[in-house]
Amino acid sequence: MPRLPTVDEVWPLVPRTHRRSLAEWTRLNREIDRCRRCPLGDLRAHPAIHRGSLRPRVLFVGEAPGAAEDRAGLPFVGAAGKRLDQLIHGVGLLESEFAVLNVIKCRPPQNRFSLEAAEACRPFLARQIEFLQPMMVVTLGVSALSAFRPDLLPMTAAAGHISRWRGLRFFPMIHPAAAARSLGFLRRWKRDGKTLASILARLGAA
Ligand code: SF4
Repeated sequence: MPRLPTVDEVWPLVPRTHRRSLAEWTRLNREIDRCRRCPLGDLRAHPAIHRGSLRPRVLFVGEAPGAAEDRAGLPFVGAAGKRLDQLIHGVGLLESEFAVLNVIKCRPPQNRFSLEAAEACRPFLARQIEFLQPMMVVTLGVSALSAFRPDLLPMTAAAGHISRWRGLRFFPMIHPAAAARSLGFLRRWKRDGKTLASILARLGAA
């Protein structure tokens, strides 16, 4: 297997002008597919690598795959994925304008976010963002926010606020699964979704 780049080599992100090729993307996907860099590689049915556009304006980044994602080999295809798709549809993004992935590519036991796996997976995440070069990253949930901007925590303060980060626009949201757990979180999810829609409308991305 080719040597994986260190975090320092792939982070920060390269400029939008970076040359992209499908072969590069295929090679990255194949590396993730064969990866055993952390214990989750032996537990998964399939890694959930990416779904959506290869040239997204907006990239949604969740935490880790669940059971449905592990079966399908795609991120956000379960109940939380349906809620996320409703939001994406609601903010007016076309299929060609968004992509979805997770910080961790393989399902953790009991769906518990693993810091060890997040660290092992980080070079893959960095290379995915480097390749996709979105205009905006929307993190979903506290663990996804922590993987990028722990300085913005707590989640309640960060969610729904746009900032600039490493040449990107950065917009944290609560996890869509949290919106199913309480009315308060559901209101927050909807309110932040409206904020995202107005930002995208202003930027001409939707
Ligand atoms: S979670 Fe990431 S680092 Fe761990 S085995 Fe899967 S792809 Fe490799």
